[in-house]
Amino acid sequence: MPIVDGWFTDDQDAPTLIGSKCPVCGTYVFPPRDGDCPSPTCESATLDRTPMSRRGTIWSYTENRYTPPAPFVSTTTPFEPYALAAVSLKHEGLVVLGRVARGVLAADLHVGMEMQLEIDDAHADDESQYVVYAWAPATPRVASTGEAKHGAPS
Ligand SMILES: [Zn+2]
Repeated sequence: MPIVDGWFTDDQDAPTLIGSKCPVCGTYVFPPRDGDCPSPTCESATLDRTPMSRRGTIWSYTENRYTPPAPFVSTTTPFEPYALAAVSLKHEGLVVLGRVARGVLAADLHVGMEMQLEIDDAHADDESQYVVYAWAPATPRVASTGEAKHGAPS
């Protein structure tokens, strides 16, 4: 189940962030919330929940090499460093901070890189395996044709 309720769908194939959008001026808000539109020039008192883009580009990133304080729960012992990325969603005009997919560290990232939303395991307790959204490089890895590896010299 999602580690936070209502911020994203946990569809494994196409997870989506859930934001709020002003029905009057189209301003987006993430994390989603109710209430007034944040735009100072808009008088709307309501925001609607809406799915947001699954792809964006890296605006900034960093790497966490030390165990964060609670409520963070490490899923590995010892703690394994992970990257964090602030990803700019062009259509929404927002930057969404998130963990980067397991195994992808800062050295693998650069500003402007295209990222795509994935679902990653967080921690588990007695009742549930929690999942969290994560940013993963969107560019498909170059697939080996398989041809080059057959025909090895004998
Ligand atoms: Zn508005």
